[in-house]
Amino acid sequence: MSEAATDVPMIRMSAVDKYFGSLHVLRDIELEVPRGQVVVVLGPSGSGKSTLCRAINRLEPIDSGSIEIDGKPLPAEGRELAQLRADVGMVFQQFNLFAHKTIEENVTLGPLKVRKNTASEAREQARQLLDRVGIADQSAKYPAQLSGGQQQRAAIARALAMKPKVMLFDEPTSALDPEMVNEVLDVMTGLAAEGMTMLVVTHEMGFARKAAHRVLFMSDGEVAEDSTPQEFFSAPRTDRAKDFLGKIL
Ligand code: ADP
Ligand code: MG
Repeated sequence: MSEAATDVPMIRMSAVDKYFGSLHVLRDIELEVPRGQVVVVLGPSGSGKSTLCRAINRLEPIDSGSIEIDGKPLPAEGRELAQLRADVGMVFQQFNLFAHKTIEENVTLGPLKVRKNTASEAREQARQLLDRVGIADQSAKYPAQLSGGQQQRAAIARALAMKPKVMLFDEPTSALDPEMVNEVLDVMTGLAAEGMTMLVVTHEMGFARKAAHRVLFMSDGEVAEDSTPQEFFSAPRTDRAKDFLGKIL
């Protein structure tokens, strides 16, 4: 790959605006995320964090502006959109596994359908990924038979099975019992250490301090602060961020 190609940001959002009716939920978002960067998105409820993630994956259409993944504009629909979705893995608060498929089937489905892997390739890859997230022994079970932490790790394995270029996490530990939060954060920390480009909406400040290269603070649909975790936690610039940190720390 040429040097110029590696300089292309993995995510580029330019002048992105999004409305729900008269509610302006994303306001003139300008964001470039370089390859390998881990970005933690913080902000109060309703500030637009989920909408930002969903826009990047095109689960939510935008009203104006542009979004590029690895230099390619987001396609509107069809086969190209399926390919884009395969490049951008997403993990949600509510694990969103297919309830009537086994854990292994959850992980092999995308590679079989979208990546056109053979059944044995897909199974072998699922075995490796489930081992990597520490639930190889759960592969024949159905999601409801797993703990929340195990289900979320299965959801991460399912996303990774598509060999994404970027991983988006929208409050991946918020629905978990406290004792299961770390098993999911550990998997995410490992991914970050391996150089995955990640955008993570979370309230886990320990993760933000430890794993993030960069913190975005969203407020009322705007990126109100964009800084390093050190800067953000020790010297937030805006009153809105100070107020937010005062409530959660
Ligand atoms: P956050 O994830 O930061 O809590 P969201 O992105 O979910 O914020 O929501 C931003 C704003 O958009 C909120 O005011 C929310 O109520 C509103 N909103 C989100 N989704 C929809 C929708 N599908 N229709 C209408 N309003 C929505
Ligand atoms: Mg949200």
